[in-house]
Amino acid sequence: MGIKYLAKLVKYIKEVYKIERGISKLRDKRRKPIYSTGEVILPVLFGFMIRIQSFNELNNRIKSNDFRRLVSRKTKIPLIDTIRDTLKGINVQGLDDINVGIIKKSVENKVFRKGTIEGYKVAAIDGTKIFGSNKKSCEECIVTVKGEKKHYSHSAVFISTVGKKPRLVLDFELYKAGVDSSKKAEGELTVAKRLLEKVTNEHKNLIDIVVYDALACNSVWINHCYKCNVIAVVQVKKNNVKSIKRIKIETNKEDKKENWYDKNRALEIKAYEKSFYMDNVDRPLRYVKFTKKKNDKEYSKVLLITTSFEIPLKVLYKIISARWDIENSVFNNLKTYSALDRCFVHNINAIEAISYLMIIASNLMQLFINRRLKSFIKSQKEVIRLIIKELYLLRENKELIFNTT
Ligand SMILES: [Zn+2]
Repeated sequence: MGIKYLAKLVKYIKEVYKIERGISKLRDKRRKPIYSTGEVILPVLFGFMIRIQSFNELNNRIKSNDFRRLVSRKTKIPLIDTIRDTLKGINVQGLDDINVGIIKKSVENKVFRKGTIEGYKVAAIDGTKIFGSNKKSCEECIVTVKGEKKHYSHSAVFISTVGKKPRLVLDFELYKAGVDSSKKAEGELTVAKRLLEKVTNEHKNLIDIVVYDALACNSVWINHCYKCNVIAVVQVKKNNVKSIKRIKIETNKEDKKENWYDKNRALEIKAYEKSFYMDNVDRPLRYVKFTKKKNDKEYSKVLLITTSFEIPLKVLYKIISARWDIENSVFNNLKTYSALDRCFVHNINAIEAISYLMIIASNLMQLFINRRLKSFIKSQKEVIRLIIKELYLLRENKELIFNTT
């Protein structure tokens, strides 16, 4: 068996995504360190790429020399305490820069040229709880009390492309205790606004449409999307906005505009739509209702509002369905396999750094599997299994060494 996948992966992330350059630029606050920041971060990043489940596992892999052949003979690999200290003091901006570079390179390499859904470049936003713990906490923690037990966690909002693969995590933003509202919906919306503004500034014209759940069904979010120059698609659920209540009733009296059959889900779809005005929003909005019918019985509805009158109803249906991609593909990727919600090092700087490293690892893996391996795509799980196997068989090879100093 050759060292096919590992060699391809290493060359790909070195040559196309210049990962060594980004890692070498990283700095942290340790005094008189024995290891450079890059030397410390490489095994963590590579560990996340092969989906280590804990820092314990990382420590064991380092001790048994799993990453030995990826660095030069002169380079030592640090142990876990050094890794923890480095993560607490690392300059997070450097990690953010690496991810921004990866996204910019993929845009340059036309990853999104044909859009992600019917020609549109669609991104989804969603919030999630990360690094939950019953024991470890920090000053920035969100504390929830269940009976006598306290639970500590952090909240973050992520933005990721949805639809066609690779699905790349564009960025994330942490909820800040004391700054963002402690009311769940209001707090998340403020964080999401900050995130969208940051991402649309960093990547001009990357996102055409941003899809978000019902907590963003209000004028604050709609106006923010206008400001950031993206089309808003927002799910509608129970809501206190008067104009939404009114348009719901009015649309129920209308006849369907279109109907079709969704083969994949075996659903009969009927679409209704109507334009309306929302308080505090200058321009008219479009309200859309989809009803789904299966085997002549089950009924369910999906409601949305959007700032666009151009997007065809069938495409809107695909977009609102793809909202789940961020949950199914991105969050599961980050959580289940990389243990995003397990507590590694409980310190706000380390939490931000680890989240970036997981995103970078996930993005590089997505790009490798969907762009580099293309025609012989295997599942991510299978590719990682082969890469781990090949790590043990790897002999010293200059081309496959990371220079991180
Ligand atoms: Zn905390």
